[in-house]
Amino acid sequence: MTTTTSKTTPTVPYDEALREFEPVIGLETHVELGTASKMFCGCATEFGAEPNTQVCPVCLGLPGALPVVNAKAIESTIRIGLALHCDIAPWGRFARKNYFYPDMPKNFQTSQYDEPLCVDGYLDVQVDGETVRIPIERVHLEEDTGKSLHVGGSTGRIHGATHSLVDYNRAGIPLVEIVTRPVTGTGAHPAEVAKAYVTELRDILRGLDVSDVRMEQGSLRCDVNVSLNRPGDDWGTRSETKNVNSLRSVERAVRSEVERQAGILRTGGRIVQETRHFHEDTGMSTSGRSKEEATDYRYFPEPDLVPLAPDADWIAELKAALPEAPSLRRRRLVEQLGLSELDSQAMTNAGVLDLVLATVDAGAPAAEARNWWLGHLAQQANTRGLEPAELPISPAQVARVVELVSAGSLTAGLARQVVDGVLAGEGEPDEVVEARGLAVVSDEGALAAAVDDAIAAQPDAADKIRAGKVQAVGALVGSVMKATRGQADASVVRRLLLERLGVTED
Ligand code: ADP
Ligand code: MG
Ligand code: ZN
Repeated sequence: MTTTTSKTTPTVPYDEALREFEPVIGLETHVELGTASKMFCGCATEFGAEPNTQVCPVCLGLPGALPVVNAKAIESTIRIGLALHCDIAPWGRFARKNYFYPDMPKNFQTSQYDEPLCVDGYLDVQVDGETVRIPIERVHLEEDTGKSLHVGGSTGRIHGATHSLVDYNRAGIPLVEIVTRPVTGTGAHPAEVAKAYVTELRDILRGLDVSDVRMEQGSLRCDVNVSLNRPGDDWGTRSETKNVNSLRSVERAVRSEVERQAGILRTGGRIVQETRHFHEDTGMSTSGRSKEEATDYRYFPEPDLVPLAPDADWIAELKAALPEAPSLRRRRLVEQLGLSELDSQAMTNAGVLDLVLATVDAGAPAAEARNWWLGHLAQQANTRGLEPAELPISPAQVARVVELVSAGSLTAGLARQVVDGVLAGEGEPDEVVEARGLAVVSDEGALAAAVDDAIAAQPDAADKIRAGKVQAVGALVGSVMKATRGQADASVVRRLLLERLGVTED
């Protein structure tokens, strides 16, 4: 990516920038919890409902309405903190973060400020075969805002719009924020570390079953902070890129910021502390609000809620009941399946290890699962600009295709067509086989005619084979496969041809 973001300053290629500068990154991740009701009221939280149908006086901030804390949300936050090796605060209060914005009906957000529920944790991630420890500063609980829709302009942005609509269904949904400390020492691959961290975090959250962690629906969202400094110097000024809504974009956001900042610093320029907006379509960010003057949110303890004092025994119970960490589970499965270190590395790098393991869980042999996800599916993901996990095919569906192949109902070529059918939204593998008429022709009677035709069409090849040049059979197999549109089993075809020509192989 070498396009210029600032009109005057050229960017520096990623690798080159990181030979000259040291990166510092910081990630703030928001997770919408999957609780049945909102954070401080009983309203439903379902995604995609008619606007403003899941609201009440509390989440609309009507005068006199009183909030009550959602116990399940507290439990989920503590479990997240425990899974990230945090200390759990024995006591703490919610705070009011005061600001005006139309999507925030109360004119303050109920959040945790100086008394977060969980502090001082870490998460280990693997990048390039090395473990990088990401220090976690805090995990706190707050509430989500509503959503604005800007109408009448061409871009959907507020500029040029004639009016705006607000949907408060999302206002008050419990939101957990996970903030890292500044991460140093990522050397030549801060972008890869950032992506590995969000990926691992997403897997942990999914394992805890606290959120559906769907980045494309916004239930997992990330702000990416980046700064650069010359070796030996203090940390540089950071920028904060918002709206980063896919794993691939986490990586791209860091990468483009490293390239942009290096360009400015190299020419003696100054980095402005600002928020930037990431654009999925271009992979670039543009400047947003300057943050050089800190906003004063006039935080104060929320007077309408009693303090939290989670019981130590309860915390111990939650800790004991945590699921196995994804990284440990992965290591265990890799060992059980006898996959090599190199293999699991390749799968981790391609973002398919969990998919391979889930495909094995669904009944496929490890080698087959691996080949599909590292091969055809990785390729399909790449051409579509998706992560393999985002492909519209499930491990169970892949396992079913593998099963059909091993049962002899599909050839390798047909299996790929079935998978492509599933990816195209044509339904379950069996439905695609049926609808596209892809079952293997293994009925030897039906094949016999195609075999005879092939021999008649290529008498020279047939003669060579009769004379003992068995390699020549390839051409005849090819024309039978063509005639049967790939639906024959090539090894059966080969056997039938040789039988027909009176040749036996030793
Ligand atoms: P804000 O609310 O202004 O975004 P926070 O403290 O909540 O500030 O989050 C800032 C994030 O940026 C944290 O993840 C922090 O670790 C990170 N960070 C702080 N300083 C730097 C820096 N010099 N370079 C990169 N990241 C930084
Ligand atoms: Mg922030
Ligand atoms: Zn409500």
